[in-house]
Amino acid sequence: MYICRVMRFSLIALFAYRIVCVQCSIHEVDVAIIGGGLAGLSVAKDLATANKSFAILEARSRVGGRLLNANFPGKGAEELGGEYVGPTQDRVLALISELGLKTYKTFTAGDSMYYRNGTLQRYIDRFGGIPPVGIGSLLELAGFMNEINTLASTINLEEPWNSPNATILDSMTLETFINSRIFTTESRMLLGIVVPGILSVEAREPSLLYALWGIAGSGNATTPGSIGRLIATDEGAQDSRLIGGSQMLAIKLAENLGRGNIFFNAPVRKVKFEHARYTVTSPTLNISAKHVVVAISPPLASRIVFDPPLPAGRAQLNQRMPIGAIGKAIAIFPRPWWRGQGLNGAGISDTGAIRVTYDNSPPNVSFGALMGFIEADEMRKLDGASDDEIKLQAKQSFINLFGSQVDTATEILIHRWDTDQFSRGGPAAFMPPGVLTQYGPFLRAPVGRIHFAGTETAVRWIGYMDGAISSGERAAAEILDNF
Ligand SMILES: Cc1cc2nc3c(=O)[nH]c(=O)nc-3n(C[C@H](O)[C@H](O)[C@H](O)COP(=O)(O)OP(=O)(O)OC[C@H]3O[C@@H](n4cnc5c(N)ncnc54)[C@H](O)[C@@H]3O)c2cc1C
Repeated sequence: MYICRVMRFSLIALFAYRIVCVQCSIHEVDVAIIGGGLAGLSVAKDLATANKSFAILEARSRVGGRLLNANFPGKGAEELGGEYVGPTQDRVLALISELGLKTYKTFTAGDSMYYRNGTLQRYIDRFGGIPPVGIGSLLELAGFMNEINTLASTINLEEPWNSPNATILDSMTLETFINSRIFTTESRMLLGIVVPGILSVEAREPSLLYALWGIAGSGNATTPGSIGRLIATDEGAQDSRLIGGSQMLAIKLAENLGRGNIFFNAPVRKVKFEHARYTVTSPTLNISAKHVVVAISPPLASRIVFDPPLPAGRAQLNQRMPIGAIGKAIAIFPRPWWRGQGLNGAGISDTGAIRVTYDNSPPNVSFGALMGFIEADEMRKLDGASDDEIKLQAKQSFINLFGSQVDTATEILIHRWDTDQFSRGGPAAFMPPGVLTQYGPFLRAPVGRIHFAGTETAVRWIGYMDGAISSGERAAAEILDNF
């Protein structure tokens, strides 16, 4: 009995010693990067080029964060997270070509489907994603989009809080503005699909200023942003996909950086500043660094303990940026049978868990895939639902749009991001009224030698892969300028 106790104690002591040993091993680097998504990896890429040492601490056991492939070996990949790229997304397009990856156009040849009031209508998409509506609604929507683009053109991209009438624009929700301009039921219903389709929030959630900033940023130095580009597939934000899936961007970046610099299963809990260096602590390892980059979304950054605490403005900002509720459902078929019926897989529905669909088949058409987003209120309605229940609802949404042949699906993939521990939603954290004007200046401002990256801190294509990359490049430049 006594021997047993001694043995048990020795084993516990040995086990504890190993844990303490792992924890007390401190790696010293120039820069500790929190997060191995596109933003964190982009920081590392530029630091590596400048011969600075770095360590990426990544909470998950994989890179890519909000990018996640579902691979079909020998056939292709489906994207469960971020997916599309399009014109004017210069940073992501440059990275794709630098990494030797290739894009292909989202399939749009053929008719789209519109399910409204229980009636299915087939139509040719002549208005960049807007289905056939009555002439009154069409004129109203055209006027609205024109006005919102004009307002967006007044937004100061670098400092939106200094835009003309910023306080007024930030004092109301996007919905307040919509309600003051849109009166037909059909236009309101459509905007009720378009807004969650872009931001994964209902129009009552973000401020008008924040929405205008996002629209203004959906362009490049020579082409201004527009709401039409955010909605459109051809030549718009949904124009193209990556062969092999978008997560390949992160995987290839990580390969080039060397896996030895990336520490997986290392969720950062604490950043402490002492003796002119930062100690970045995770349950699996500690890193000592001269600079730190927080390359995660603001709501996730609010879970980290900073010692000394972040300035009140930055901490309040982290507390005030919720993230959209989003899930994706992808029905897999032996082939894209709808193409044979002259359909392009694009659908819009006024009911059901899924309101917007796309043909998500791989370029070699080795299988067929219909993808649908579950967003905002529709995602929240499924709180507590089992995966099987969500799959059933997703399937019914596809059936509403494409008929009973959807029953031949061999598999339905789902991924809900709102329950995903190290994302807690997507596509990006947004700002409710009052936040951008009060706390916007803290979004990119370094705190000591702590720098902030992540798609939320971008100037252009905020919330997109392109924004994540440019944010990482900006944070790396900040460090190299002040090294
Ligand atoms: C369903 C969905 C659809 C989308 N569609 C598109 C699209 O079509 N086109 C497009 O361009 N963009 C799209 N996006 C958005 C795009 O995916 C993101 O903008 C981009 O991937 C964000 O990259 P990031 O590096 O800023 O953040 P993330 O990808 O979130 O990376 C942050 C990383 O930090 C890690 N992390 C979190 N907390 C900690 C911690 N405490 N310690 C250590 N690591 C931590 C996470 O695991 C993650 O890997 C979509 C997103 C979703 C979810």
